[in-house]
Order: sequence, then structure tokens, then C-alpha cells
Amino acid sequence: MGWGGAGGWGGGGGFMGGHSGAAGNGLPFGGIPTELMDGVNKILATEPEHAPADIHFTQLPTPDEPTHLSLMQLLLTYPGRVVGSSLLVILISAAAVMGPLLIGYAIDHGMREGHYSMSVVVWCAGLYLLVAGVSAVLQRSQVVVTGRLASRIMHDLRIRVFTQFQRLSLDFFTDEKAGVLMSRMTSDIENLQQLIQDGISTFAAQGLQMIIMLVILFLYSVTLAFWTVVLVVPILLGLSVWFHQASAKGYLRSRDGIAGVLSDLSESLYGIRVVTANNRQERNIRNHRHVVGWYRDANMYTGRVNAIYGPVTIMIGILGQALIIGIGGNMYLHGALTLGVLTVFFQYLSRFFQPIQLLVQQYNLLQQGRSSIVRLGELLEVAPSVTEKANATQMPPIQGRITFDDVSFGYNPEVPVLQHVSLTIEPGESVAFVGPTGAGKSTMAKLVTRFYDPTEGRILLDGVDLRDVTMRSLRSQLGVVPQEPFLFAGSIRTNLAFGREGITNEEIDEAIDVVGLRDLVERLPNGLDTVVHERGQTLSAGERQLIALARAFLARPRVMVLDEATSSLDLQSETVIERALDKVLEGRTAILIAHRLTTAQRANRIVVIDHGGVVEMGTPAELLAAKGIYAGMYDAWLQSGGRDVSITTSAD
Ligand code: ADP
Repeated sequence: MGWGGAGGWGGGGGFMGGHSGAAGNGLPFGGIPTELMDGVNKILATEPEHAPADIHFTQLPTPDEPTHLSLMQLLLTYPGRVVGSSLLVILISAAAVMGPLLIGYAIDHGMREGHYSMSVVVWCAGLYLLVAGVSAVLQRSQVVVTGRLASRIMHDLRIRVFTQFQRLSLDFFTDEKAGVLMSRMTSDIENLQQLIQDGISTFAAQGLQMIIMLVILFLYSVTLAFWTVVLVVPILLGLSVWFHQASAKGYLRSRDGIAGVLSDLSESLYGIRVVTANNRQERNIRNHRHVVGWYRDANMYTGRVNAIYGPVTIMIGILGQALIIGIGGNMYLHGALTLGVLTVFFQYLSRFFQPIQLLVQQYNLLQQGRSSIVRLGELLEVAPSVTEKANATQMPPIQGRITFDDVSFGYNPEVPVLQHVSLTIEPGESVAFVGPTGAGKSTMAKLVTRFYDPTEGRILLDGVDLRDVTMRSLRSQLGVVPQEPFLFAGSIRTNLAFGREGITNEEIDEAIDVVGLRDLVERLPNGLDTVVHERGQTLSAGERQLIALARAFLARPRVMVLDEATSSLDLQSETVIERALDKVLEGRTAILIAHRLTTAQRANRIVVIDHGGVVEMGTPAELLAAKGIYAGMYDAWLQSGGRDVSITTSAD
């Protein structure tokens, strides 16, 4: 099989099992129709076995992981391919400059008066053809080799960046916009891919060709080369740079122009009633004339730029040819140059144009690629704020005693959120955190799961500082049920089996009964193998919470941290969830961030948190008897809640 995991192809009863197996993303997998089964079996018979990828995630980078990102280092991961690609670039450049040399040779040694030689002409023509053919083959190989090189490098880099995302701490994802992080993986990586695939080799090949041509020209005739090169090349280069910048500006202007036209148009169309009612037609036309005019100006600018560049380039070409005819012709007449060499000059001069234009274009790609490398490098160098010590040990199986030992914490060190909190939660005890919004309840929970580390003090689990153990051994004994349960695209089975490896189908069945999901599962078209769409949008909020509870239950943690959903559920779902909670929390140490006082009332102990500290603590009965803050909250809740309940009952 090889795909591993409870939700792989073999999840249910194998391929033949009708609706078994998770179909991955997208549509629910309806099973393979029997008439297609033969075809499927045939394909399967020829499919190679894929061994599961050998992945070891470590919180700390391993010593062989590079710490710094640079283009050179990326390229040097595949030295063989880089050398191969460079050799091909050299050969292609050499082949490209061969043609004119052969023509020059044929003229000088086969067509000159007194030196007529048919065989030289035929040989040169044959060689010309051969060089062109070989060059085509080399170019093909070069595209293949660099394409593969770029794909491999990008594949590695994507995994490297993704692994970094898995390592980084929660604060990083809170501070950085998700869109920005996505663009690291999309546009930045694409920029680099383009750079490695096309940019570097084109840059190298064109640059090399120019250098070889210049050297040959200077070898043939320093004077002529000096005049043509010194006059023509700088003008051409300057013009290309100008054109490139001007056309980029023109592109931006006309893009903004059309956006302005469209937005004005759509606003006028949507608001046509208001326009008519307020007699705004004339004003609107004037306004639209303005935006359309702006767009016209932008287009005219682009047109002007093109109108300059094209003819001026041709003019420069002609100027170069005139120089060659004038100076070179004169030199030929004086016997300082042969006709063949003159032809080589003509040919090479016309060949300068394309490389220069390409070099200027590729320069932008090079710049973009470089800034992408810098941005990706910065991302890869971010150190997670919460990480393992190099000598972190395995957390032994725990009983579940949680101790806050004089803990202070602030997301921003200057703004303390928790101050000198000390609290012990006994194994098997369920403790509800209550208090106003923003008091620091979730923050305390986040410290227990080590999403953040305290700024001062320690958090101990069975007497062991959380910072001394590996994240994996710690988190495998902690269960977290977030306020908004997150379901991944895939079957319900895969979503349930998420928390621990090797969860069996029997265990999943048991969990479903424990949390009361059986009704839902039976209602779904494919039972447990029904695919929930991304984030479980096809399920109700209550059902998603039950799935999250079952997932936590299956992970069998000793300590459970549960952030109760604030979104109000109907009474029936609430009862189901409360029952499920009782089952799931049985015998476990539990921290409940309670938003409903019914939940708090069911806990063994209530901790009232306010202003970053514990202000009251005790069993529900004790706190009610003490008539403190909690008792006040309870009274207020009873008053409003009591009225709600009576309305519901009277309506019944
Ligand atoms: P509670 O769970 O009691 O409603 P929290 O623990 O979520 O409160 O928040 C406590 C305080 O910390 C609040 O003032 C909140 O604004 C602040 N806070 C919460 N999360 C962050 C964060 N990621 N960055 C900065 N401040 C935060």
C-alpha cells in the first residue's frame, strides 16, 4: 500500500470496498464503478510501489541543514547538474558564434579571386548546417537539464520553507499576515524558479556570446572593432535600459488607467438610479471623461515609447553598418582587412542586438530573484520564540499535575498580561477558568500547551519544567480542543485519527459512541468515510465540536485543555456536548476555559481570573457560598439565564 495512515486508500476494506478510502480533497469519493474495476486493476498492476516518504521532523534544525540561504548554496546542492548546465551553456555560446566565422572563412578561402575552391565552400556550408543542428540539440538538453535543476531546487526549497512554518511559534503567525506568508511560497518561489530555469542560463549564455564575439572582433581588427563597439554597444545598451524602464512605467500606468475606467463604469452602472435621481449625469460624464482620458494618455505614452525604441534601434543598426562599410570598406581597399572578416563584422554587429535586449530583460528577473532570495532567507532565519533546548529530554508518562509557579507573561514584554500567577491543578482534576474577556484565561491555557513560554516563573507538569522536555513528548500527552475546531479536507475518519499514530477502526468506533456522534455518522452518505469539505463547512458548529472532542479523546492525552466555544448552540446540541465532555474528561486533568457558567458549575474547581491574576479559587459550592466575584457572575447569569429558560419552557 504505502500511503500509510488510517485514512489512506486502505482505510476501510481496501479498494473493492465500494465507498471505502478517502478521496483526498474535493468531491466525496463515491467508490470505483464495477465496470471500471478491470481498468483500475490493470493500471495498479503497472504502478510502482511508492515507499512512504522518510520524514523526520525535528523542532531544532539538524546540523546538516543549511542556516543561510543564497543562490549559490541552492545551486550547489546539485553540483553535477550545475556543471552540466554550465558546460552546455558554453557549448551553445560557442556554436552560436561559429556560423559567421564559417561564412567569413568560406569567403576568404573559397570565393576570393585566385582562391576559388568549391570544396572549401561545400565544407563550410556542411559544417554550418552541422553546427546549427548540434546547437539545436544542445539547446534542447540545456532546457531539460536546467528545467530539472530548477524543479528540484524549488521542491527542496518549498519543503524547507514549509518545515520552517511547522517549527515557528504561534506569535510568528499572529504577527505575520497569512497572505504575506502565502506569497513567500507562491510568488517568491516562482520568481526564483524562473530565475534558475531561464534567467541565469540566458544571462550566462548571452553574456558569454557577447564576450566571445567582442574578443574575436578585436582579434580580427582592433581599429574596426573599437569604432563599431565603442559607438554602437553603449548606445544600444543605454537605449535598452531606458526602454525597459519606460515600458514598465507605461505598463503600470495603463494598468491603473483601465482599473480606474472599470471601477468608475461599474460604480455608475450600479448607482444608475441614484445618478438619475440626483441629476448627476453631466458630472458623471465629465468624471468619466477624466478617467478615460487618463487611460488614453497612458496608452499614448506606451505608444510613444515603442515608437522611439523600434526605429532608433534600427537606426543604430544602420549606423553600425555604415561605420563598417565606411571604415571597414576603406580598410579592405587598403588591404588591412579581408572581405570575409568584413562579413564577420556585419554578422556579429547584427547579433549584438538580441543579447543586449535579452540581458536587459533578464536583469529585472535577476533583481526580482535576488530580492525573493533575501525575503525567503529572512523567513528561514527567524528563530522560533518557543523551541527545544538542545539537551531536552523525553517527558515521561505523566499523571497530570499542572503547576504555575509564580508565572508572569506578556505577548509584548512591556505589557504584562499575567502577573505572578501561582496555581496547582491536581491529576484528574477539572478546573474551569472564568473571568471577563481579555482577563488572560486563554493565555494561561496557551502557556500550559507551550504555545508561548512564560517571561518569568515556570510551568511544571508533574514537577518537570515544560522547557526541559521535547515538544513532541510533551504535546503527545496534552490534548487541545480549540474554540473553533479545525477540520481538514478529508474524511471524518482521517480527521478523527489525527491526534495519534496507529489509531484503529475499533477505537474510532468507540470514540464515536462516547461523544455521541453515532447519529451523525449514520446519517452521512458514506458514514465515517464521508469527506468533509475544507474546514468542515458542511457540518454544523455543534457537530464540528463533537468531532474535535472525539479527536481529542482518541489522542488519549493525560491533560486536556479545552476552550469552550462562545458561539451559542441550540439547547439540544449543548446538552449533547456537555454529556460528551463529561465522558472525554473522565479521569483526566482538564483546564476548561468556560464561557458558560453551566460548564463552570460542572468543574471540580473554579479559578476566577481577572487583571492577569487569580482572584478567586474554590469548588463551585465554596465560591457561591463566599459571595464573591463568581457568586456575583452566577447571580447575573441566573437572572438572565433563568428568564430565557422560562421563556423556552412556557413556549413549550
Ligand atoms: P481571555 O481568554 O481571558 O479572554 P486572553 O488570554 O485571550 O483573554 O487575552 C489576555 C490579554 O492578552 C488581552 O488583553 C488580549 O488583548 C491580549 N492578547 C491576547 N492574544 C494576544 C496576542 N497574540 N498578541 C498580543 N496580545 C494578545
